[in-house]
Amino acid sequence: MSFRHKITKTDPDLSFRKTVDIKPEFLKKLGIKGLILDVDNTLTTHDNPVPAEGIAEWLENMKKSGIKLIIVSNNHPERVKPFADPLGLDYVSDSGKPLKKGYIEAMKRMGLTKKETAAVGDQLFTDIWGAKNAGITSIFVQPMELEGRHKRFIRFKRVLEKPFLPEKFIEDKGEVL
Ligand SMILES: [Mg+2]
Repeated sequence: MSFRHKITKTDPDLSFRKTVDIKPEFLKKLGIKGLILDVDNTLTTHDNPVPAEGIAEWLENMKKSGIKLIIVSNNHPERVKPFADPLGLDYVSDSGKPLKKGYIEAMKRMGLTKKETAAVGDQLFTDIWGAKNAGITSIFVQPMELEGRHKRFIRFKRVLEKPFLPEKFIEDKGEVL
């Protein structure tokens, strides 16, 4: 057995190339009624106050379809609030992912159980590991951008993630789109 297969804490339950490829119908089939959303590189590029192209529409469509949404971010309130407020999203900032406390708080606010909740994020060692710690479905999305040269720590984390990144994506299985 390879080293990769000994580490299962970072294996996402589901993997998508893009956040906007996650469809409400797909979630409903799985019994998922709410999404816990990461911000940086999941809904927009790093430290960008404006959602990435198609994200505002994607969020609106989720809400219309009855999927509850909440942001859980390790970033500070000064970063998260100006992003979340215009979109009408509740948020938990400084969440301490991969600890489960932020996810538990988010589920409480949505009024949903573990089985009814999934978390979406671009980092295996925070978003995915945290979802596993909280006992909820984990959904990996590819990061929206590779960070600039000054983001050395994030780049380092990406290098560490590389051997564990998923190789198969839901988009490749025709039936869900
Ligand atoms: Mg992120």
